Amino acid sequence: MTQGNGGCDVLLRLQEVDSEQAALERELASLREAPEVDEPRRRVESRQERVRQLLERQVVLTRELGWAEKEAAELKRKQGELDRKLYSGEIGNPKELDQMRRKLESVAGTIGSLDDQALTAMEELETLKPALAEANRTLEEERAALRLAEQANAERRAAVEEALETIPERRQALAGSIAPPLLAEYERIRPRRGGVAAVRLARGICEGCRVAVPPVLLGQARQGRLVKCESCGRILCWVEG
Ligand SMILES: [Zn+2]
Repeated sequence: MTQGNGGCDVLLRLQEVDSEQAALERELASLREAPEVDEPRRRVESRQERVRQLLERQVVLTRELGWAEKEAAELKRKQGELDRKLYSGEIGNPKELDQMRRKLESVAGTIGSLDDQALTAMEELETLKPALAEANRTLEEERAALRLAEQANAERRAAVEEALETIPERRQALAGSIAPPLLAEYERIRPRRGGVAAVRLARGICEGCRVAVPPVLLGQARQGRLVKCESCGRILCWVEG
């Protein structure tokens, strides 16, 4: 590799590796938070809640229907008994007969309202069936979408982690061939300048801050001397351009 600009070529490559590492670490942090998985997860949770409510309503209605049917059956049995007694001729007392008729009317009325309750419950149970089927079908779709999002996130995380694992070796190979004082200066500046300590100096412009570099510094940089931008303080690596 060329050392024509005082090892600056290698320094720029080291800077690339360091910037790559920083970008990968940012991406990994975002992947760990996984905002793209939140939305499908929320959808699944809210659909599960909808299915749960429908099932709960189904249980309540089934119980109501069973109760109304049982009560009505019991009253119909009672109604049969009263009916038989009324027309059996066993009772001759008109007052008693009148009481019995009124009782029969009342029982018939209660049976009617129990039948209505049972019918209402049955009707709602019928509309619940397709609603439940639809909610379950959508839930399955949303679960599949969540699995895909989680899978994509996990795959990208694995790729980013794998890429990060290659960094130390690549970094070591480059750092080892940079003059220690230059490397030390680079390491000193890097944390102070947003992770970027070495930049290209092309067409007389510092690529770190876009400020024009004075001719005297340009000349020094071209000779391979350690030159820093007067504006942003970064190490300037002269490149043809
Ligand atoms: Zn600069």
